[in-house]
Amino acid sequence: MSGTDPDCVFCKIVAGDIPAEIVSETERTVAFRDLNGQAPTHVLVVPRLHAADIASLAVAAPDVAAALLVETRRIAVGDGHEAYRLVFNTGADAGQSVFHVHGHVLAGRDLTWPPG
Ligand code: 5GP
Ligand code: ZN
Repeated sequence: MSGTDPDCVFCKIVAGDIPAEIVSETERTVAFRDLNGQAPTHVLVVPRLHAADIASLAVAAPDVAAALLVETRRIAVGDGHEAYRLVFNTGADAGQSVFHVHGHVLAGRDLTWPPG
């Protein structure tokens, strides 16, 4: 795992090279609204450093993985939601399309179970 990947869209958002609606920034994480929101709150929270998925990040930098998880609740509460769903699509067959780990923070509507 390297610090950044020049071809990665989320590294470019972290660097400010691609615009995004930033919700919060910390020393280790950046959160921004999903371009194709699926709920009134649909925020992606990413580490500043590049890692493909949450398990890889947890192995390589557990402190950053923990910081990312802590940030998810702040994002939901910041949008006025106590309850939220946190999704990490992991692997292409599970729907992951951007291979820079991102937690989807979803809230503000009924979230059915099981997910599709
Ligand atoms: P995944 O399918 O990998 O779990 O989620 C990727 C998410 O990133 C999708 O929900 C997609 O809408 C979002 N996304 C992809 N490219 C961009 C972008 O350039 N800006 C923003 N804000 N969201 C993006
Ligand atoms: Zn990246």
